[in-house]
Amino acid sequence: TIYDSKRSETPRDKLIGGLLTEDFDERSCVSRYHQSLLYRNPSPYKPSEYLVSKLRSYEKLHKRCGPGTDAYKEATKSLGHDNNENYANKTVGECRYVVWVAGFGLGNRILTLASAFLYALLTGRVVLVDQTKDISDLFCEPFPDTSWLLPHDFPLTTQQIDGYNRGYSRCYGTMVINHAINATSIPPHLFLDIIHDSRDEDKMFFCPKDQTLIDKVPWLIVKANVYFVPSLWFNPTFRDELTKLFPQKEAVFHHLARYLFHPTNKVWGMVTRYYNAHLARADERLGLQIRVFSHQNVYFQHVMDQVVSCAQREKLLPELSTQEDAKVNTSTSQRLKAVLVTSLFPEYSDNLKNMFWERPSSTGEIIEVYQPSGERFQQTDKKLHDQKALAEMYLLSYTDKIVTSARSTFGYVAHSLGALKPWLLYQPNDQTAPDPPCTRSTSMDPCHLTPPSHGCDDDWGTNSGKVLPFVKHCEDRDNDGLKLF
Ligand code: GDP
Repeated sequence: TIYDSKRSETPRDKLIGGLLTEDFDERSCVSRYHQSLLYRNPSPYKPSEYLVSKLRSYEKLHKRCGPGTDAYKEATKSLGHDNNENYANKTVGECRYVVWVAGFGLGNRILTLASAFLYALLTGRVVLVDQTKDISDLFCEPFPDTSWLLPHDFPLTTQQIDGYNRGYSRCYGTMVINHAINATSIPPHLFLDIIHDSRDEDKMFFCPKDQTLIDKVPWLIVKANVYFVPSLWFNPTFRDELTKLFPQKEAVFHHLARYLFHPTNKVWGMVTRYYNAHLARADERLGLQIRVFSHQNVYFQHVMDQVVSCAQREKLLPELSTQEDAKVNTSTSQRLKAVLVTSLFPEYSDNLKNMFWERPSSTGEIIEVYQPSGERFQQTDKKLHDQKALAEMYLLSYTDKIVTSARSTFGYVAHSLGALKPWLLYQPNDQTAPDPPCTRSTSMDPCHLTPPSHGCDDDWGTNSGKVLPFVKHCEDRDNDGLKLF
């Protein structure tokens, strides 16, 4: 039991209600058993017993099938040469796999890896992670006595896998178009393309009939950039299982992320040093995640105005006093609010800081503004840059209230990890701040940004936001996107 001495004498549950296994050495990865320590309060979302037992069985499966095992060697034999054998009635040992390939920004990676892991959990597969990028500089191993890293001598080379795209004959959507896959013709591996502009045929992946075929394929190689969990609920078989695993539907990513992602000691040091230096003593913490998707990679005054207008309208930040010479407050017990800004541009926090320095707040609160980095442009795959991005997602998750930017996977990870329902900043257009500037989200799970627009079979053409009562369009996506509520 760990005690949070700073805030209360309540014992903290270091295994998060059984979500985590005890089978790890604490020091090799301090964040694993300490990440719940920084939370304001223990998360209101408890993992179900069913999820806990499913995770323990998964760990056993991963140990039996993981790199270096006989089962793994047996299964990789089918991949050595690009054979045309039919795997419809063939077994390649007892294990089947999903290989997750790293691509796009860090937020995208975290969301897609969690999605691939859940898919593995639902289908009895083992997830292996492409390690050609800096994943092991970011995260510790999540499964005990084994590894989730795809071995360097995996028979499909990095060069081969990098080259997989829609034109590849083993791309699932392409096989559907070419009628090249059916119950009597199953390849040893398939490439799945679950990207923002995937074709309808690629998105058939989510349909039950297609899953019965895909289920037989020993190796699945996934390149994805969207959180695809909400769409898995459309499959009735998955839905029953998902309902048992996640009775609180909007907590799917929250649980998966706390189970799967444990920042390395390097990153955790960055998180805790920053937290202790700037956030720990505040009475309240507000997170502002400012991400603008624009061809111009610059600071925008209209976005600054939008953030301030959102924060003040929603009473997240005080107004400024109209009296320049407001009574000077000599009290030492003023309320302290720490604002954590994350953005590629340092101007956002500089301006906010000046605002609250130049004039007093109308409430008398002291506003401290911090921004850990201002990297100016995205530098994915540069180690320290990615480590800072990860540290900032965790820091944001430890705030009490959070404002995030529309469609940003960086923001999705931060609020969902922290079990926070964010205020979502609408996407600005035409150099003007939208009115209203933001809306409060009613769910904390991330949005599947580009889900199938169609249903399966009989449901073909129905609005996917209207099929299930708990899967609806996202607030930041105007009649599009799907999200669990
Ligand atoms: P998205 O593009 O907003 O969906 O988020 P991603 O995380 O997938 O990609 C954006 C990338 O840009 C991040 O991973 C970082 O590399 C960088 N980036 C964007 N915003 C920030 C920020 O606020 N802080 C830091 N440190 N990096 C950022």
